[in-house]
Amino acid sequence: MQLIELKNVYKRYPNGVTALCDVNLEISKGEFVFVIGSSGSGKSTLIKLLYRQEKPTRGEVYVGGVNVSKLRNGKVYKLRRKLGIVFQDYKLLPKLTVYENVAFALEVYGLKESEVRKRTIKAIEQVGLKDKLRSYPDELSGGEQQRVSIARAIVNEPKVLICDEPTGNLDPDTSMEVMKVIDGINKDLGTTIIMATHDKEIVNAMKKRVIVIEKGLVAKDSQKGKYKSEGI
Ligand code: ADP
Repeated sequence: MQLIELKNVYKRYPNGVTALCDVNLEISKGEFVFVIGSSGSGKSTLIKLLYRQEKPTRGEVYVGGVNVSKLRNGKVYKLRRKLGIVFQDYKLLPKLTVYENVAFALEVYGLKESEVRKRTIKAIEQVGLKDKLRSYPDELSGGEQQRVSIARAIVNEPKVLICDEPTGNLDPDTSMEVMKVIDGINKDLGTTIIMATHDKEIVNAMKKRVIVIEKGLVAKDSQKGKYKSEGI
């Protein structure tokens, strides 16, 4: 079984909107995948199904062998442990330093303080912010804040890093820096990356697998894909 599998997945919201229609996908361990498509095409819905923010109306979603569709609410934490999630807005805690924001996310209870420190510093080093350990979020640029949120997402060493428009608030140069950090995580740690984005330059520069969602359907799935302007 692949790390992520969607089988005949449909998502219809209570208001009657069908956001996904018979989606079938397989993503293997270590892959880097972009999910692209116009606003309202169903990208966020697809991503929300992976971390069980939403449940499919029909079909099955597997993440790391867990049938997410059938997971009881009380077991969702087991799924979330396998995942790191990065959003467009960084969601950092303003009164905590960079170090504290990342350490706070370490879920492994009973860790010795030295171990907490080791893992936190490792994650912060991975995103290139070791010199900002004691800074507060409002002392950092947008790109740096996003890198902190990425460090927080990887500190538990998840199998999958899910990114929902992570460069949405950033200028092109900063966006590319953040992409290099995400690519480094994929290459150095072998973490599987799934990233929803609108950002043409990034998709074209990175030359990764691209899944195009259109009106809730997988319209295209290509290795080393390009972001074509027509219809997207
Ligand atoms: P994208 O991320 O590509 O912009 P979404 O997955 O957010 O697309 O939305 C797909 C469709 O589902 C849209 O028509 C949107 O209005 C609808 N939708 C998204 N979330 C909800 C919701 N919670 N309730 C009802 N409709 C929703």
